Amino acid sequence: MHEYVGTCNACGTTIYCENGFLNGELSENNTLICFSCDERNLKNRVQLSPYQSNWPETFAKEKNAILHNLGDPTIPIEHIGSTSVPNLQAKPIIDILFGVENLDEFTHYIHPLSQAGYAYVPKPELRTRRFFKKDTGTSGTFHLHICEWNSSEWDEKITFRDYLRVNPQSAKAYESLKKQLAEAYREERSVYTKEKGPFIQSILNLAYKKG
Ligand SMILES: [Zn+2]
Repeated sequence: MHEYVGTCNACGTTIYCENGFLNGELSENNTLICFSCDERNLKNRVQLSPYQSNWPETFAKEKNAILHNLGDPTIPIEHIGSTSVPNLQAKPIIDILFGVENLDEFTHYIHPLSQAGYAYVPKPELRTRRFFKKDTGTSGTFHLHICEWNSSEWDEKITFRDYLRVNPQSAKAYESLKKQLAEAYREERSVYTKEKGPFIQSILNLAYKKG
């Protein structure tokens, strides 16, 4: 069930509510913004961090915490993304790949993952995975991607990571490309229009209903 809430002030995409979860939020200046645009803004704001040698350990602890919360030690959980490759500059976000047999099972994990601090973020553009995030402030930001562990997407993500781990030159090339892309996004930053009133109210209504 998708309930219409409004449109993103940056890109015009539809903001909707799915089982009490929104695919966007109110930004600091009280305009409605989709999570894709929100993340793009974050990319512009957040500097790349030098590689932190404690990232693998941060992931390992988080994996244990998740498995403990779910009570099933057999769930495949992998560290992916730039923080999983040694010596890469990266946004300080730990990306976690979480394997399921069938993507439809993801709804079973919304509640236990919320107890581990993860919020489900519906993303209509995602067909083969489901996105969760956790912001702790002090101990870091975690993005969790539920994906079918026997899928080509799973395999590609792991393969890509493993390749960069053992090919530092390719890892550095990937790092340069990301810097260039980050620069390009910065230049394309759109001017945000301001449409407040009804959208804010519908968000608040849903938030209270959810709370
Ligand atoms: Zn948007």
